[in-house]
Amino acid sequence: MHDVVIVGAGPVGLTLACELGLAGCSVLVLEREPEPGSAMRAAPLGMRGLSAASVEAFYRRGMLDSLPIAPGFTEGANGPSVPRRGGHFAGIMLDPAKLDGAALPYRLPSPAPGLVMTNLAEVEAVLSKRAAKLGVDVRRGVTVSAVTRHDEGVVAQAGAEAYEARWLVGCDGGRSTVRRLAGFEFVGTEPQFTGYTMHATIAGLQELRHGFNLTPTGMYIRMPIDGHIGVMDFDGGAFDRSQQPTREHLQAVLRRVSGTDVTLTEVHTASSFTDRAMQSTTYRQGRVLLAGDAAHIHSPLGGQGLNTGIGDAVNLGWKLAATVHGHAPDGLLDTYAGERHPIGAAVLDWSRAQVAIMRPDAHGRALQGVVRDLIGTTEGTTYVFGKLSGSWIRHDLGGEHPLVGRDAPDFLLEAGTRLGELMQDGRGVALDFGTARPLHASARRWEGRIRYAAGPAADDLGLGAVLVRPDGVVAWAGERHPDRAGFERAAGRWFGSPAL
Ligand SMILES: Cc1cc2nc3c(=O)[nH]c(=O)nc-3n(C[C@H](O)[C@H](O)[C@H](O)COP(=O)(O)OP(=O)(O)OC[C@H]3O[C@@H](n4cnc5c(N)ncnc54)[C@H](O)[C@@H]3O)c2cc1C
Repeated sequence: MHDVVIVGAGPVGLTLACELGLAGCSVLVLEREPEPGSAMRAAPLGMRGLSAASVEAFYRRGMLDSLPIAPGFTEGANGPSVPRRGGHFAGIMLDPAKLDGAALPYRLPSPAPGLVMTNLAEVEAVLSKRAAKLGVDVRRGVTVSAVTRHDEGVVAQAGAEAYEARWLVGCDGGRSTVRRLAGFEFVGTEPQFTGYTMHATIAGLQELRHGFNLTPTGMYIRMPIDGHIGVMDFDGGAFDRSQQPTREHLQAVLRRVSGTDVTLTEVHTASSFTDRAMQSTTYRQGRVLLAGDAAHIHSPLGGQGLNTGIGDAVNLGWKLAATVHGHAPDGLLDTYAGERHPIGAAVLDWSRAQVAIMRPDAHGRALQGVVRDLIGTTEGTTYVFGKLSGSWIRHDLGGEHPLVGRDAPDFLLEAGTRLGELMQDGRGVALDFGTARPLHASARRWEGRIRYAAGPAADDLGLGAVLVRPDGVVAWAGERHPDRAGFERAAGRWFGSPAL
């Protein structure tokens, strides 16, 4: 019997597996696909944007150097800097020159780039390698088709094989079998469009403009690599997605949306998606949990799905590990859904707002004009960039300091150590900026769960100390003369009873 069975070896399942493996749990990952790296997951169709929050998560586990980054796409290294490409909202491009980096709260320079382009296949390869090193057992060609629960654990059934664990996490994507089998309620809004991505040989390609193009009937995207096109067709989601789109269908849609008469002479690969926006009403049912697309789906507009899923995995990993090891404080595991469900809901709304202004009618066009004007301002650009980068996220942890609940800035101690480096073993970190080490004795009481480091910081943002959770979220922030009792309360709240 394993501690945890994860269904799905996509980027979210593998990130979670690594987090649990790092924390010393026994983990089994069951994956339907016999082989990794299908054409849909490899570049260019599998290309995905990783936000600053996701890149930080890789950095904090010492994986920055192995993170596959598409050439020419590294941006904003040593932030808080201005990326060369600012991203987009419903195809309305941000102008990086209008971004006010100083207005993004609590960022400090870090080796982690602010935004990178990568691809699913390579991210999965890197995570698989790390998972193997951490002792995670990944079994491919295993399709989970039944889930049964009992008091002590959960059994995942795949054909004649049964896999038992104390906990099961469904990371099996938007059409999650685990979600259905375990009876999670999935609610939201129905699609307005069908989207297509394709790699095709196209006669008349020069008729298609580069980049994002909003048109009277939808949007098309000509990607930087020739023959790679995205199209969004406001058909009310009518296309039957159980079928592979044919060349004739793709050509008709592309012609209609782009207003050109391009000809698809050959389609090499193609797939479809919609803007259906659904979320599971809860992320936990007893010993079964959901993360990533299994918990929330929405259109790919603005590149949020993978980033939200990675955020789920790093939030869940240490909490589930502490629960497995028996030192989790009461209710810790439930803070996973408590913190991540509102983030998922906000991401769904971000996607819906983009769909609303893309609507090919007079109302959509009117709204588009207003939003375009707003994005043309420094405040507008900075606001949208803050959403795309994940810097808007602040969990409501009840602390008074505005940094509590946010992603920790990468504090640099004058001795040369960075917070991100101190987090590689997956423990929480107490940073004590006072020379008298006022929190040393307190932090030692949680030795093994909290790593303590002291010394002045290059920039301490006016703080005396911080307590950072293993997922990089600030759990507590102390003034110049930190309150020991406040620190101990926060340590107990997140890391359980002290060992000493
Ligand atoms: C065109 C497009 C562009 C996108 N661009 C971006 C972007 O730029 N940035 C971003 O953040 N997001 C983007 N996304 C979204 C992103 O790809 C997804 O959110 C992300 O892949 C979800 O990861 P996941 O691990 O939750 O699920 P998946 O990647 O779907 O992985 C699920 C895994 O579970 C396996 N599985 C399924 N059922 C079973 C079963 N019964 N038993 C065993 N295994 C099973 C599957 O084979 C798969 O390997 C984009 C999506 C699309 C369609």
